[in-house]
Amino acid sequence: SRIEDFEIGPLIEEVISLSAQRAKYSNVELVSHLEPRLPAISASHSELQQVFLNLINNALDAMDKTGGILKISARQEGGQILIGVSDNGPGIPKAILARIFDPFFTTKPVGSGTGLGLSICYGIIHKMGGAISVQSAVDAGTTFEIRIPVKADET
Ligand code: ADP
Ligand code: MG
Repeated sequence: SRIEDFEIGPLIEEVISLSAQRAKYSNVELVSHLEPRLPAISASHSELQQVFLNLINNALDAMDKTGGILKISARQEGGQILIGVSDNGPGIPKAILARIFDPFFTTKPVGSGTGLGLSICYGIIHKMGGAISVQSAVDAGTTFEIRIPVKADET
């Protein structure tokens, strides 16, 4: 978890290519809209990879039986980089939406989900001074939004 300066675009592309086979197998189309020349961030590269892998795997789990579209976007907004991870899967019922970042909260069968993915994502993003939030609607889909501060001298 060494801190280094890097660009987030290539990291996202890497994680997308790591997920390509599984997506294809699940009939999920992976689409990315990454703003060119995004400023560098200062963070742990491996932890941030883990964040996007977790979000992508959750979306693929959700669309496993149905297929769908998984969109990842990144753009700069002032001193922050805004990243969206969006699927058109089953969505998350309102009654449980507030609990999905809790450690060990899972709706997956015993043995197939630890319920730790999103709590780990939350910890990693907050440790770097960022934020993660979710919007979801049943039968429409789910969007996670991540905000990461740009490296101090790059705004
Ligand atoms: P796990 O994947 O092991 O269940 P997570 O912390 O990664 O644990 O996710 C917690 C729960 O949040 C999941 O069990 C699922 O109910 C819900 N969830 C997360 N992402 C999505 C998504 N993209 N679509 C629908 N439900 C989701
Ligand atoms: Mg998970």
